[in-house]
Amino acid sequence: MVRLQAFACDHCAVPLPPGHRFPMEKYLLLREAVMAADLIPPVCVVVPRPATDEQILRAHDRDYLEKVTTGCLTTQEVRRIGFPWSPGLVQRARCSVGGTISACRAALRDGIAVNLAGGTHHAFRGHGEGYCIFNDSVIAVRSMQQEGRIARAVILDGDVHQGNGTAAIAAADPTIFTLSIHGERNFPLRKERSDLDVALPDGTGDRPYLAAWDASVRRALRMGLSCGPPRVDLAIYLAGVDPYEDDRLGRLALSKTGLAQRDARTFELCRDAGVPVATVMAGGYARRVEDTVAIHLQTVCLAAECVRDGYPGKGSSSVAAADSLGTSGGAPGRDRDATWDSLNGPRSGPPSHGSFGLPKAGV
Ligand SMILES: [Zn+2]
Repeated sequence: MVRLQAFACDHCAVPLPPGHRFPMEKYLLLREAVMAADLIPPVCVVVPRPATDEQILRAHDRDYLEKVTTGCLTTQEVRRIGFPWSPGLVQRARCSVGGTISACRAALRDGIAVNLAGGTHHAFRGHGEGYCIFNDSVIAVRSMQQEGRIARAVILDGDVHQGNGTAAIAAADPTIFTLSIHGERNFPLRKERSDLDVALPDGTGDRPYLAAWDASVRRALRMGLSCGPPRVDLAIYLAGVDPYEDDRLGRLALSKTGLAQRDARTFELCRDAGVPVATVMAGGYARRVEDTVAIHLQTVCLAAECVRDGYPGKGSSSVAAADSLGTSGGAPGRDRDATWDSLNGPRSGPPSHGSFGLPKAGV
């Protein structure tokens, strides 16, 4: 039986000051919830390898990467990102990108896979903002292209905030189609131009949202063309849960059921188009972190059901052939990533990475 692969990097501890508004604990809680859930088939939770410099440079300037890794960002640049700089933050950012890269490889093999982090769509080529340091989606797409696995990809961004960094980095790249559906009055104030933007008014609820999402995803899967579209090889779905009605930073009014319907519809449309989907979590800032985790969990459960039902991937043979092309980090995917189960059991983290300890709840 094929098991859904889910990639988790909450072992990378990010020290945040008390009262910081970003709910970092959601990643640990989500991974625990996924491992505790009685999913059929069970989810295989995997620790991704951190993204390498070579991979990150596919979407970012070398200057910026060096400033991030050496802690030489200016006070203003750090403030724009929204997290205090630390070595742990950099390692976490690399692992989160690594999770999306691994999820793309797994999706191409199994049809669908999940990164329990990722969706850092506010990261631009030369700066970060809005809790985003590296743009995992563009890095992952270009890594798949570099490895010879895909030619074209769509990025389906359902986070309530516009995917401005993604839009800017991919603007001149005809091989990546970017869709962003977001609150028109939400961050970022100054929007970039995606290939397809849908800006929704405050308070938009399930019905109009889902109608807009459905039509937009259909169009994105045709790369925006009405006839003779080129084949899309991969979708990255940012399943942000901040359109939720009780989100602190969202301005829309989707119910939990509405968000589950969005997930289901996305998987259905991609399946019908024969396009594998790597799903990443993106934003979620509900007043109760339990709600954020529960909505992310329903995304993972739906993905697991899709895999159970035989979601079409590219097939193991074509991926095996692509594997032989190699990557900067050696053999890709399942062979090199380690499962949480195989390392330390379901309730604890993997071996510590240098100075990075086990995850802490409530940071
Ligand atoms: Zn967001």
